[in-house]
Amino acid sequence: MPSWPLTTLREWAKSRPPGYLEDLLARAHLADEGETVTLNDAAYAELSARYRPAPPSRPPSLPRLAATAARAIGRFAASGFQKAPEEIRLARQALCHTCPDWDAEGYAGLGRCRKCGCSGIKLSWASEQCPLGKWGRVDSV
Ligand code: SF4
Repeated sequence: MPSWPLTTLREWAKSRPPGYLEDLLARAHLADEGETVTLNDAAYAELSARYRPAPPSRPPSLPRLAATAARAIGRFAASGFQKAPEEIRLARQALCHTCPDWDAEGYAGLGRCRKCGCSGIKLSWASEQCPLGKWGRVDSV
């Protein structure tokens, strides 16, 4: 039967979906005035399956990457090469860097989105958006 300090579970909960800690505590046995949390094996297996993060997707193939890049360059050119304001670029970057599809080791440490293959240059282009809808185009484009 797995057992953890409550403080450890609170730390883990920060990177889990909402409701994780509440779900876990609802099935747990608490000891030491609530500071030690124990789960039976069945509850542990159920919660592990429910909250296991999805495996990150694989990066696009080279032909798909080339086609995606060509379309992005076309949109950027059609927008008159409008750049996103710096605060928007930084907000987009913050979303990417906490996204499970961001591969910080990609392109020899430059970083890469596993969905579109971008290393981050599109963050500066007003005409671009996240392929998962996590950030959008700049409205004035
Ligand atoms: S562009 Fe979207 S999918 Fe790709 S890393 Fe950024 S937030 Fe994630």
